[in-house]
Amino acid sequence: MSESLQQPDTTMLSVRGITKAFGTNSVLKGVDMDIDKGSVTALIGGNGAGKSTLVKIIMGIYQPDNGEIYLAGKLARLGKPSASLAAGIYLVPQEPMLFPNMTVEENVLMGFMEKASDLHKRLNDLLTHLDWKIDLNRKAATLSIAEQQLVEILRGLMRNARLLILDEPTSSLTFNEVESLFKIITDLKGKGIGIIYITHRLTEVFQIADQVLIMRDGVITINGPVSAFTREMLVAGLLPPNTEIHRDALACKTVNYEQIPPALVIDHLTGYGFRDVSLKVYPGEILGLAGVVGAGRTELATTIFGRDIVKSGKVTLCGRDVTGCSTRQMLNAGLNYVAEDRFLNGIFRISDVAANTTAAHLDQMSKVFINFKEERKVTERFIEAFRTMVTGHDQLIGTLSGGNQQKVVIARSLSTDPRVLILDEPTRGIDAAARGDVYAIIEQLKADGLAILLISSDMEEIVELSDRALTMYCGHINREFAKCDITQDSLMAAAFGVTEGSAKDA
Ligand code: ADP
Ligand code: MG
Repeated sequence: MSESLQQPDTTMLSVRGITKAFGTNSVLKGVDMDIDKGSVTALIGGNGAGKSTLVKIIMGIYQPDNGEIYLAGKLARLGKPSASLAAGIYLVPQEPMLFPNMTVEENVLMGFMEKASDLHKRLNDLLTHLDWKIDLNRKAATLSIAEQQLVEILRGLMRNARLLILDEPTSSLTFNEVESLFKIITDLKGKGIGIIYITHRLTEVFQIADQVLIMRDGVITINGPVSAFTREMLVAGLLPPNTEIHRDALACKTVNYEQIPPALVIDHLTGYGFRDVSLKVYPGEILGLAGVVGAGRTELATTIFGRDIVKSGKVTLCGRDVTGCSTRQMLNAGLNYVAEDRFLNGIFRISDVAANTTAAHLDQMSKVFINFKEERKVTERFIEAFRTMVTGHDQLIGTLSGGNQQKVVIARSLSTDPRVLILDEPTRGIDAAARGDVYAIIEQLKADGLAILLISSDMEEIVELSDRALTMYCGHINREFAKCDITQDSLMAAAFGVTEGSAKDA
């Protein structure tokens, strides 16, 4: 560690050798980064790459395990948010956190200690300086998300932020809102503010950024001026090293499913978070649905499953129109959904394995009293079939490993005897061995004739399991892949919004 760093005086922030682990999960593995005044640095990477963790360390929300942060070449002692704020750093959170019943001005000025009249003047001066027009008396509840983000940015600027960090600000914005945010960013850049712009969208890098940093698995893989890179180079930086770019053509046979009726048909479906999605899944087929977090895949799944409202379009399950049916009706009609977050949606943490295996099945068993005999029978069948490592069916599920929890959750979904299964990130956060077991289970279900919609952000998983694949980007399907065309790089490119070239729009 040194007290100061030799560097150009245009550099406002330098990060050296930052490492961070959460438990045994090593999230940042030695990150270096330099941010210039008056420039936009795009920080891009797949889910879980460590982007948010890195900026939270800069903001003083997390402590790094190793490494230093320098401000204008001087070693900075950050470590708590107040120190970062005092140093002129401001992190705009992904979801703006405003008080809906308060005005714009009240929201911006929350937490300041100065006299109200002084603050009011300072805020008006700032708006004049920026030449921004925003009605300070509007209630926050009436603001669009882009306007709410503007309020968050104003909060930062009122604290004299010289470095503004935006964590995936556009993931919930409409096209016009993105345009206006980009105008604001360009403005701030002109005023000498340094900006770290985290995004999931590769195309935005070329629109807005001067520098680009690509992060993968806690390591910076690409770092330099945007002008030095092509899209293909950036995509390569997102992929694991030595990724087999092209599939072995002989090993790949495309199955013609269209001869049998599809089990699930989604026809121009629009709901919260996605629009105009059409797809079909056939019995005995795994349809991969790739994309990044926020692309709208989970929203699509929960809407199909009857948890969220269908705005327009149609859902057909095994030939029956089930549009707008409740989750219970969907289960009875032969659809089940294994949610992404096992804790939030999948598992009742304090119940035991038997109760968890049969929880989705209660309709078919006694409604009021749980039929313990029936429950035990169903559980034992699946524990055996899936080699779930448990001491018995009365073991508390919270004590199982992630992989075994996932097997219990999948087993539970099978107890309703579905024809169509939607698996949402089935192997996120589980170890390699258990992942192999889960893959074997999925392959078996497919062989049994289930139609499977596999949602995954893990491109390798999509390549490994899918018979066909779709990518979802900003709420719509932007590309379809036949089995032979499913490669990690083309999935990755489409998931990050690049569809030119051989793109065949679905
Ligand atoms: P990104 O923003 O690039 O998607 P994150 O920085 O949010 O990635 O997450 C990187 C990894 O760190 C993930 O594996 C995530 O599960 C883990 N992680 C993030 N925050 C925590 C936390 N507070 N506790 C434990 N693990 C965490
Ligand atoms: Mg993040």
